[in-house]
Amino acid sequence: MATIKENIQEVHRRLAKACTDGARPPSAVRLLVVSKTFDAAAVREAHAAGERAFGENYVQEALDKIAALADLRAGIEWHLIGPLQSNKTRVVAESFDWVHTVDRLKIAQRLSEQRPEGLAPLQVCLQVNISGEASKSGLRPEEVPALAAQIAQLPRLRLRGLMAIPEPAGDLEAQRRPHRQLAELLRRLQGQGLDMDTLSMGMSADLEAAVLEGATLVRVGSAIFGSRPAPI
Ligand SMILES: *Cc1c(COP(=O)(O)O)cnc(C)c1O
Repeated sequence: MATIKENIQEVHRRLAKACTDGARPPSAVRLLVVSKTFDAAAVREAHAAGERAFGENYVQEALDKIAALADLRAGIEWHLIGPLQSNKTRVVAESFDWVHTVDRLKIAQRLSEQRPEGLAPLQVCLQVNISGEASKSGLRPEEVPALAAQIAQLPRLRLRGLMAIPEPAGDLEAQRRPHRQLAELLRRLQGQGLDMDTLSMGMSADLEAAVLEGATLVRVGSAIFGSRPAPI
């Protein structure tokens, strides 16, 4: 079986090829290593292989890992990529560097109020339900411009961009469509004068499509750590 380090190298090869195919500089795309369900030792291994940005879905699981990896904290970015309830905003504002799943003003206001003064502003993305799935969380695209304008005003947040989890699709062209729509939405916001630079999109199965459409941060888990146990 391939090691975590070998898998990371393979993901970087895929990213580099997609950047070449998309005529984008390799430095335009960062890898966010999604470590949900994998333990602190696995994160340590990825860190030893050179990775510095890690994504977690479940707040308590993440807090345990952040504590177990306190010795690496200064060099690590922790990103929350799972749903955030309002009763968890304080610990998230205190412990994470990024939140990708903001989809309500109330949550953003709490994160801004609760972000400790001694830390840099919390970096946030708005989650967009780009495929229009009834069950998915995230904003409808038409809701995004007004909310983005409000969140950009909050003092202890830095609104960086948009995040989406498109519906799985088989072929590259079908995979590219929702990613293209998210990129178009970001350009619209930039045209409104919002200083946003991040497209958090692309996972193990569709990172090529995402990079071709302008992803700046791809969130990759199973291609690095192997398949996760099925949720109970
Ligand atoms: C689990 C997860 C990922 C990573 O998915 P893989 O298919 O394992 O690469 C990316 N983004 C979000 C929001 C996730 O929950």
